[in-house]
Amino acid sequence: MSHNPKLSVVIPVYNEADGLQALFDRLYPALDALNLSYELIFINDGSKDRSAALLSQQYRMRPEVTRVVLFNSNYGQHMAIVAGFEQSLGEIIVTLDADLQNPPEEIGRLVAAIDAGHDYVGTIRRERQDHWFRRHASRAMNALRERITHIRMTDQGCMLRAYRREIIDTINQCREINTFIPALAYTFAHHPTEIEVNHEERFTGTSKYSFYQLIRLNFDLVTGFSLVPLQAFSLLGMILALASAALFILLVVRRFILGSEVEGVFTLFAITFFLMGMLLFGIGLLGEYIGRIYQQVRQRPRYVIQAILQDQERV
Ligand code: UDP
Ligand code: MG
Repeated sequence: MSHNPKLSVVIPVYNEADGLQALFDRLYPALDALNLSYELIFINDGSKDRSAALLSQQYRMRPEVTRVVLFNSNYGQHMAIVAGFEQSLGEIIVTLDADLQNPPEEIGRLVAAIDAGHDYVGTIRRERQDHWFRRHASRAMNALRERITHIRMTDQGCMLRAYRREIIDTINQCREINTFIPALAYTFAHHPTEIEVNHEERFTGTSKYSFYQLIRLNFDLVTGFSLVPLQAFSLLGMILALASAALFILLVVRRFILGSEVEGVFTLFAITFFLMGMLLFGIGLLGEYIGRIYQQVRQRPRYVIQAILQDQERV
């Protein structure tokens, strides 16, 4: 095996013990069939089940094409991918989920799209096998995010993506903590494209993302890539301030012409509550940005690697 393979496949693994063998059984033959030099990089993101043991067992079966990075704890899917990127040597880098929702047989088509001159290949799931609520919620979020951040991803939830080396090198220079890899990569791409791929039901196990985490993810996506929410908020604040100034003048003039009034008190309450709600939202939004700044300035290590299993000759 040459020192720099053509293809690196990066796969984050978190509590996937039940499905790993099925993944290996399809992944290795699919990559062997491509007839190019490749390496597989698995990142065990602090799994609490037997995933780490299964990965090291698989490493011993195919040490010439397999590398395993073991985290000491759970740092999240995107940090796992970042660690995989930092280890990767390939010219083309493909990311894939471990749960077989992205068929490994599609990797060849991604590689072909990169060879055709694209530097970023996203994917769209042909028939998405997820709950309808998740499907619709993510479509609505996509539309909003696209407007705010100008990042065009038809299907942000699909991790099966391919990147050219230059993009990965740029990502490796970023020291961001709460990031979303496909979006970050998109901002560095010159010639992105998207292709349709098959999508399957999760082989076993359940999604590692709760509803709350999905909301968090979308906040990170917007605040991590755009200042538009803050700017829109100050614009809104300006309009409201002007409107209340006008109301104030109106009330003062009215007071002197028609005398004092007490009707409409509850309308006033409603307006006040609405404004208080807006204010709280604004403070929360500020908090999102400040939180990000805080995490960033602490400069803690983004993840800690416990061990790397790899062929000594290759590094
Ligand atoms: N994953 C991870 N760390 C986490 C959560 C998930 O490495 O904290 C991995 C997981 O093993 C899988 C991929 O990220 O390979 C996507 O996770 P999942 O399938 O649960 O997400 P979904 O497909 O539901 O968006
Ligand atoms: Mg999945």
